Amino acid sequence: MDNCIFCKISKKDIPSKIIYEDEDIFVFHDINPAAEVHFLLIPKLHITNMLELNDTHQILMGKMIILANKLANEYGLSNGYKTQINTGKNGGQEVYHLHIHVFGNK
Ligand code: 5GP
Ligand code: ZN
Repeated sequence: MDNCIFCKISKKDIPSKIIYEDEDIFVFHDINPAAEVHFLLIPKLHITNMLELNDTHQILMGKMIILANKLANEYGLSNGYKTQINTGKNGGQEVYHLHIHVFGNK
């Protein structure tokens, strides 16, 4: 997606504080953190939001959730953390590229 800020971030056309990257997933610090630790996991594939998900995304979404927990632990959130996925207008989504928020205090 040409005009998508998170596609640009995952292609490194826009800089971000990168936490993790593989061929399917990109993880970076939220620019406006809601807690001591706050990062976003996104698929490299442009998926607008949860409303667009189908069975072909099963493995990808599973990988993202498992990775979210692994990275939360690595970033000091082993006592727990919050996850959030905002979906669409009524879900308060601001950036229309699916992302999982992970945030919390150590
Ligand atoms: P949403 O409300 O769509 O779930 O959340 C979008 C999140 O993306 C917000 O927490 C916001 O701070 C973050 N964000 C928006 N633009 C950028 C950016 O250019 N870089 C980074 N690192 N985070 C961003
Ligand atoms: Zn995108």
